[in-house]
Amino acid sequence: MKDMHVHTHFSPDSGESFTAYIAAARQKGVHTICFTDHVDTNPNDIGTGYYDSGAFFAEFNVAKAAAPDLQLLAGIEFSEPHHWGKELAEYQKLPYDCIIGSVHSSGLEPDLFFSGLVASGVPAETCYAAYWQAVLETVTAGGFDVLGHIDIPKRYYRELIFDEELLREIFRRMLSNGIVPEINTSTLRRGLSDTMPGRNILRLYAEEGGKFCTIGSDAHTAGELAAGNAQARERLAEFGLREVTFIRRELVPAK
Ligand SMILES: [Zn+2]
Ligand SMILES: [Zn+2]
Repeated sequence: MKDMHVHTHFSPDSGESFTAYIAAARQKGVHTICFTDHVDTNPNDIGTGYYDSGAFFAEFNVAKAAAPDLQLLAGIEFSEPHHWGKELAEYQKLPYDCIIGSVHSSGLEPDLFFSGLVASGVPAETCYAAYWQAVLETVTAGGFDVLGHIDIPKRYYRELIFDEELLREIFRRMLSNGIVPEINTSTLRRGLSDTMPGRNILRLYAEEGGKFCTIGSDAHTAGELAAGNAQARERLAEFGLREVTFIRRELVPAK
């Protein structure tokens, strides 16, 4: 099993250590982990300024040397790449295996994460309209390898609203910019019945010619490592998609 979306204590919302993930990987039969801590640049985000790439690589390299039986990969989850091209360019110079680009801020005012938009009574339609526009802009800007949790507002709104034509356009731009979607399984731990994305959106990706996906748990604790992996692999098989990883930002089909 491979888990291409995992957070450690280098993320402001996780306290987990590399050693705990390594122990969990050996126990669960996970052989590839990509550590993708949050890199937030938006001044309204609580995580801004938290990530330290130098400290990350120092600790990552020690963990990697201590676990030659596993494939440990270095990554980041970079928020809103389309707004922060200059900052993203700095991270592109570092030896990351995989950069996830994620839209955590829909661009609405007040500038809140989705849980905050729900709490403020912002209607789902309003959130989704702004969110899909931001996703379109971010995949057009590119500069990253994997689009994180493509339909994340559903994790908070508990409903999914999308325009099929706009989604198809998003996938066409991803394909021309070499960006693959992930199948993020965190929704399965939060009472939703399907992955992010689920069948309705994966079908459009496959119809537009998409062939590859990564699988990520979005774990913030070692107990969550590779959670939901079997369901994600079922989805891939259903649409004839192939699991991939990235090494030094090159796509590698899984064996
Ligand atoms: Zn995220
Ligand atoms: Zn994440």
